Amino acid sequence: MRLFDPHIHMTSRTTDDYEAMYAAGVRAVVEPSFWLGQPRTSPASFLDYFDSLLGWEPFRAAQYGIAHHCTLALNPKEANDPRCAPVLGELPRYLVKDQVVAVGEIGYDSMTPAEDTALAAQLQLAADHELPALVHTPHRDKLAGLRRTLDVVRESALAPDRVLVDHLNETTVEEAKDSGCWLGFSVYPDTKMDEPRMVAILRAYGPERVLVNSAADWGRSDPLKTRKVADLMLAEGFDADDVDRVLWRNPVAFYGLSGRLTLDVATPDATHEGNSILRGAPAESGAPAVPPPGRDRSAAGA
Ligand SMILES: [Zn+2]
Repeated sequence: MRLFDPHIHMTSRTTDDYEAMYAAGVRAVVEPSFWLGQPRTSPASFLDYFDSLLGWEPFRAAQYGIAHHCTLALNPKEANDPRCAPVLGELPRYLVKDQVVAVGEIGYDSMTPAEDTALAAQLQLAADHELPALVHTPHRDKLAGLRRTLDVVRESALAPDRVLVDHLNETTVEEAKDSGCWLGFSVYPDTKMDEPRMVAILRAYGPERVLVNSAADWGRSDPLKTRKVADLMLAEGFDADDVDRVLWRNPVAFYGLSGRLTLDVATPDATHEGNSILRGAPAESGAPAVPPPGRDRSAAGA
C-alpha cells in the first residue's frame, strides 16, 4: 500500500515518526507552513522557517525514504499580527522554488479583516505563480467559516479546482463539494474527524476529489492516521483501488497541479549545508548519512 500524507507538520515530529510512517506505507508528504505555537515577532523568523521547509526537512525525510514537499504562506493566525504581515512581500521569491507545490495554509482563523486581506492577497499570489492553494477552514464556527472562505475563493482569480479546502467535516462537506474545490479531511486522535466518521463520509459522498491527512503537528496527533483510514476503508468494503485513489492518486493529482511534484526520493546527500543528522563529526561527503530504509541501520552510528 502506498500512502501520501498531504498535510503534516514534520518539523514537529521525530525520526521515530518517519520510520513508523515508512513502515506503514507513507512514501510522500506535503508540509504546509503554519504557526509554531510560540508567536513569531518578525518576518525574518518566517524566512528561516521557510528555508528549513525547503532544505533541512526534505533532507531529513529523504533519510527515511519519504518524498517531502511544502506549501508556503503567511498563516491565518499570524496574519493578525502587523509585525508578521510584511511576510506577504517576501513570498513571491519563495513561491518560485521547486519544492513548493501550493500556497498554504491560508484561510480564516478568527475571520478578522486582516485575515480577509491576507487570504485574498495569497489567492492572487497562487494565481500569479500558477500554483494551487491549500485553504484551512476554521475549527470554530465551521459552516460560517466555510461559506466566507468559498465567497473569497469565488471572487479570486483562482479556479475552484485549484483549491483544496481542508479540515472539513460532516457539517461542511456538502457545500464544499458543491463548490468544485478539492476536499480535505484531517483525522485526529480525539477531536474532529476520526476513522469511522471519515469512512462514513467517503461512503456518503464518494472518493472523488477527497484527500485525507493526519495534520500531525506539535499537539496530540497521529502521523499514522492515513494508514488507519486506509485499513478501515478496506475493512468496511472499499477496495484497494478506492484506497489508492484517496490516499495516493488524489493528492498526487492536486499537488501535481503545481507541475513540481517529484515522487522519486533521491539518495540523500550526506549533509545539508554542512550539517549531517549524525552525532559528532560531519559524515564524509558522498556517503548517505543513514542507510536507506530496509537496510541495516546499525552502521549509521547515530
Ligand atoms: Zn496544519
